[in-house]
Amino acid sequence: MSAPSLPLVLVIEDEIQFRRLLRLTLEAVGYEVNEAANGQLGLNETAVRPPQGIIVDLGLPDIDGKEVIRRIREWSQVPMLVLTVRDGEDEKIAALDAGADDYLTKPFSGRELLARLRAILRRTQTAVGSPVVRFGDVEVDLAARVVRRAGSELRLTAKEHDLLRYLAVHAGRVVTHRQILRELWGVNAEESPQYLWVYMTHLRQKLEPNPREPRYLMTDAGVGYRLIAD
Ligand code: CA
Repeated sequence: MSAPSLPLVLVIEDEIQFRRLLRLTLEAVGYEVNEAANGQLGLNETAVRPPQGIIVDLGLPDIDGKEVIRRIREWSQVPMLVLTVRDGEDEKIAALDAGADDYLTKPFSGRELLARLRAILRRTQTAVGSPVVRFGDVEVDLAARVVRRAGSELRLTAKEHDLLRYLAVHAGRVVTHRQILRELWGVNAEESPQYLWVYMTHLRQKLEPNPREPRYLMTDAGVGYRLIAD
Protein backbone atom coordinates (compact mmCIF):
# COMPACT_ATOMS: atom_id res chain seq x y z
CA MET A 1 0.00 0.00 0.00
CA SER A 2 1.56 3.33 -0.95
CA ALA A 3 1.39 6.22 1.50
CA PRO A 4 -0.71 9.21 0.38
CA SER A 5 1.59 11.96 -0.86
CA LEU A 6 1.94 15.00 1.36
CA PRO A 7 1.22 18.50 0.07
CA LEU A 8 4.50 20.02 -1.07
CA VAL A 9 5.30 23.59 0.01
CA LEU A 10 8.20 25.52 -1.50
CA VAL A 11 9.87 28.05 0.81
CA ILE A 12 11.77 30.83 -1.00
CA GLU A 13 13.79 32.69 1.63
CA ASP A 14 17.46 33.63 1.82
CA GLU A 15 17.85 33.63 5.62
CA ILE A 16 18.84 30.12 6.50
CA GLN A 17 17.71 30.23 10.15
CA PHE A 18 14.31 31.44 9.12
CA ARG A 19 14.06 28.83 6.39
CA ARG A 20 14.84 26.09 8.90
CA LEU A 21 12.19 27.41 11.25
CA LEU A 22 9.61 27.39 8.47
CA ARG A 23 10.58 23.86 7.51
CA LEU A 24 10.17 22.60 11.09
CA THR A 25 6.83 24.36 11.49
CA LEU A 26 5.47 22.94 8.24
CA GLU A 27 6.83 19.44 8.62
CA ALA A 28 5.40 19.19 12.13
CA VAL A 29 1.88 19.30 10.68
CA GLY A 30 2.52 17.03 7.74
CA TYR A 31 3.65 19.17 4.82
CA GLU A 32 6.55 18.17 2.68
CA VAL A 33 8.97 21.07 2.30
CA ASN A 34 11.27 22.13 -0.48
CA GLU A 35 13.65 25.08 -0.03
CA ALA A 36 15.12 27.73 -2.28
CA ALA A 37 17.72 30.21 -1.01
CA ASN A 38 17.10 32.91 -3.61
CA GLY A 39 14.66 34.01 -6.28
CA GLN A 40 16.25 32.26 -9.23
CA LEU A 41 16.41 28.94 -7.39
CA GLY A 42 12.80 29.48 -6.38
CA LEU A 43 11.75 29.92 -10.01
CA ASN A 44 13.69 26.80 -11.00
CA GLU A 45 12.23 24.66 -8.22
CA THR A 46 8.69 25.81 -9.00
CA ALA A 47 9.09 24.54 -12.54
CA VAL A 48 11.05 21.37 -11.78
CA ARG A 49 9.00 20.17 -8.83
CA PRO A 50 5.69 22.04 -8.89
CA PRO A 51 4.53 22.65 -5.30
CA GLN A 52 0.93 22.89 -4.00
CA GLY A 53 1.83 26.13 -2.23
CA ILE A 54 4.68 28.66 -2.12
CA ILE A 55 5.90 30.83 0.75
CA VAL A 56 8.06 33.62 -0.62
CA ASP A 57 10.01 36.29 1.24
CA LEU A 58 9.87 39.71 -0.44
CA GLY A 59 13.45 40.54 0.53
CA LEU A 60 15.59 38.27 -1.64
CA PRO A 61 19.23 38.89 -2.62
CA ASP A 62 19.00 38.36 -6.38
CA ILE A 63 15.54 38.92 -7.84
CA ASP A 64 12.95 41.07 -6.10
CA GLY A 65 10.27 38.93 -4.44
CA LYS A 66 7.52 40.74 -6.36
CA GLU A 67 9.24 39.87 -9.64
CA VAL A 68 9.46 36.22 -8.57
CA ILE A 69 5.70 36.26 -7.95
CA ARG A 70 4.99 37.93 -11.28
CA ARG A 71 7.07 35.38 -13.20
CA ILE A 72 5.44 32.41 -11.50
CA ARG A 73 1.98 33.89 -12.15
CA GLU A 74 2.71 34.05 -15.85
CA TRP A 75 2.20 30.31 -16.05
CA SER A 76 1.02 28.95 -12.67
CA GLN A 77 -2.01 29.38 -10.40
CA VAL A 78 -0.19 27.92 -7.38
CA PRO A 79 -1.24 29.68 -4.13
CA MET A 80 1.46 32.06 -2.87
CA LEU A 81 1.90 33.49 0.61
CA VAL A 82 4.24 36.47 0.94
CA LEU A 83 6.44 37.25 3.92
CA THR A 84 7.16 40.89 4.51
CA VAL A 85 8.56 43.20 7.17
CA ARG A 86 6.68 45.89 9.07
CA ASP A 87 6.12 49.26 7.39
CA GLY A 88 6.10 47.57 4.02
CA GLU A 89 2.53 48.66 3.18
CA ASP A 90 3.29 49.58 -0.44
CA GLU A 91 5.37 46.42 -0.88
CA LYS A 92 2.51 44.32 0.42
CA ILE A 93 0.04 45.87 -1.99
CA ALA A 94 2.48 45.53 -4.90
CA ALA A 95 3.02 41.84 -4.06
CA LEU A 96 -0.74 41.20 -4.01
CA ASP A 97 -1.16 43.09 -7.27
CA ALA A 98 1.61 40.94 -8.75
CA GLY A 99 -0.46 37.84 -7.95
CA ALA A 100 0.29 36.79 -4.36
CA ASP A 101 -2.72 35.37 -2.50
CA ASP A 102 -1.98 36.69 0.95
CA TYR A 103 0.78 38.09 3.13
CA LEU A 104 2.17 37.75 6.62
CA THR A 105 4.14 40.46 8.38
CA LYS A 106 7.26 39.36 10.26
CA PRO A 107 7.39 38.47 13.09
CA PHE A 108 4.47 36.03 13.11
CA SER A 109 3.64 32.87 15.01
CA GLY A 110 3.73 29.36 13.58
CA ARG A 111 0.01 29.18 14.17
CA GLU A 112 -0.69 32.28 12.06
CA LEU A 113 1.49 30.91 9.29
CA LEU A 114 -0.32 27.59 9.21
CA ALA A 115 -3.75 29.23 9.31
CA ARG A 116 -2.94 31.52 6.36
CA LEU A 117 -1.40 28.71 4.39
CA ARG A 118 -4.41 26.44 4.98
CA ALA A 119 -6.74 29.23 3.85
CA ILE A 120 -4.99 29.82 0.53
CA LEU A 121 -4.60 26.11 -0.17
CA ARG A 122 -8.31 25.58 0.52
CA ARG A 123 -9.27 28.45 -1.72
CA THR A 124 -7.67 26.88 -4.76
CA GLN A 125 -9.45 23.63 -4.00
CA THR A 126 -12.88 25.25 -3.65
CA ALA A 127 -12.27 27.46 -6.68
CA VAL A 128 -12.26 24.35 -8.82
CA GLY A 129 -14.73 22.22 -6.88
CA SER A 130 -17.56 24.32 -5.53
CA PRO A 131 -19.65 27.00 -7.20
CA VAL A 132 -21.25 27.97 -3.88
CA VAL A 133 -19.45 30.08 -1.29
CA ARG A 134 -21.01 30.22 2.19
CA PHE A 135 -20.52 32.48 5.18
CA GLY A 136 -22.83 32.91 8.18
CA ASP A 137 -26.36 32.43 6.83
CA VAL A 138 -25.39 33.67 3.37
CA GLU A 139 -24.93 31.60 0.23
CA VAL A 140 -23.32 33.01 -2.87
CA ASP A 141 -24.17 30.74 -5.78
CA LEU A 142 -21.56 31.65 -8.36
CA ALA A 143 -22.96 29.43 -11.08
CA ALA A 144 -26.61 30.49 -10.76
CA ARG A 145 -25.63 34.12 -9.96
CA VAL A 146 -27.94 34.10 -6.95
CA VAL A 147 -27.34 35.27 -3.37
CA ARG A 148 -29.44 33.85 -0.54
CA ARG A 149 -29.65 34.82 3.08
CA ALA A 150 -31.27 32.37 5.48
CA GLY A 151 -32.60 30.53 2.44
CA SER A 152 -34.34 33.47 0.76
CA GLU A 153 -33.07 35.13 -2.35
CA LEU A 154 -31.58 38.52 -1.66
CA ARG A 155 -31.88 41.60 -3.83
CA LEU A 156 -28.55 43.18 -4.65
CA THR A 157 -27.78 45.86 -7.19
CA ALA A 158 -25.65 44.78 -10.14
CA LYS A 159 -22.52 46.40 -8.69
CA GLU A 160 -23.11 44.99 -5.21
CA HIS A 161 -23.49 41.58 -6.76
CA ASP A 162 -20.32 41.96 -8.85
CA LEU A 163 -18.35 43.07 -5.80
CA LEU A 164 -19.63 40.21 -3.66
CA ARG A 165 -18.86 37.71 -6.43
CA TYR A 166 -15.34 39.03 -6.76
CA LEU A 167 -14.76 38.69 -3.01
CA ALA A 168 -16.37 35.24 -2.99
CA VAL A 169 -14.24 33.94 -5.85
CA HIS A 170 -11.21 35.10 -3.86
CA ALA A 171 -12.59 34.02 -0.47
CA GLY A 172 -9.94 33.73 2.23
CA ARG A 173 -7.45 36.00 0.50
CA VAL A 174 -7.05 39.71 0.62
CA VAL A 175 -7.83 41.59 -2.59
CA THR A 176 -6.42 45.07 -3.00
CA HIS A 177 -8.50 48.18 -3.69
CA ARG A 178 -6.76 48.45 -7.05
CA GLN A 179 -7.62 44.89 -8.05
CA ILE A 180 -11.30 45.32 -7.24
CA LEU A 181 -11.58 48.74 -8.85
CA ARG A 182 -9.90 47.58 -12.04
CA GLU A 183 -12.13 44.52 -12.25
CA LEU A 184 -15.44 46.26 -11.55
CA TRP A 185 -14.99 49.79 -12.81
CA GLY A 186 -12.04 49.56 -15.21
CA VAL A 187 -8.50 50.91 -15.11
CA ASN A 188 -9.58 54.54 -14.92
CA ALA A 189 -11.14 53.94 -11.51
CA GLU A 190 -8.03 52.47 -9.89
CA GLU A 191 -7.37 55.61 -7.86
CA SER A 192 -10.93 56.03 -6.59
CA PRO A 193 -11.33 53.74 -3.57
CA GLN A 194 -14.26 55.80 -2.28
CA TYR A 195 -16.53 53.89 -4.71
CA LEU A 196 -15.63 50.73 -2.92
CA TRP A 197 -16.21 52.09 0.53
CA VAL A 198 -19.80 52.93 -0.39
CA TYR A 199 -20.57 49.50 -1.87
CA MET A 200 -18.89 47.65 0.98
CA THR A 201 -21.07 49.56 3.42
CA HIS A 202 -24.17 48.48 1.48
CA LEU A 203 -23.06 44.86 1.34
CA ARG A 204 -22.37 44.78 5.06
CA GLN A 205 -25.82 46.20 5.76
CA LYS A 206 -27.41 43.46 3.70
CA LEU A 207 -25.21 40.52 4.69
CA GLU A 208 -23.57 41.00 8.07
CA PRO A 209 -25.29 40.06 11.37
CA ASN A 210 -23.94 43.33 12.76
CA PRO A 211 -22.77 45.68 9.98
CA ARG A 212 -20.79 47.81 12.42
CA GLU A 213 -18.67 44.86 13.47
CA PRO A 214 -18.17 42.81 10.32
CA ARG A 215 -17.33 39.15 10.74
CA TYR A 216 -17.17 38.12 7.10
CA LEU A 217 -16.63 41.17 4.91
CA MET A 218 -13.39 42.30 6.48
CA THR A 219 -11.31 45.43 5.92
CA ASP A 220 -7.58 44.96 5.60
CA ALA A 221 -6.53 48.46 6.66
CA GLY A 222 -4.71 50.33 3.93
CA VAL A 223 -4.63 47.28 1.66
CA GLY A 224 -8.08 46.05 0.64
CA TYR A 225 -10.83 43.62 1.64
CA ARG A 226 -11.15 39.96 2.47
CA LEU A 227 -14.18 37.68 2.61
CA ILE A 228 -14.00 35.09 5.38
CA ALA A 229 -16.01 32.12 4.12
CA ASP A 230 -16.90 28.91 5.97
CA1 CA B 1 15.02 37.79 3.24
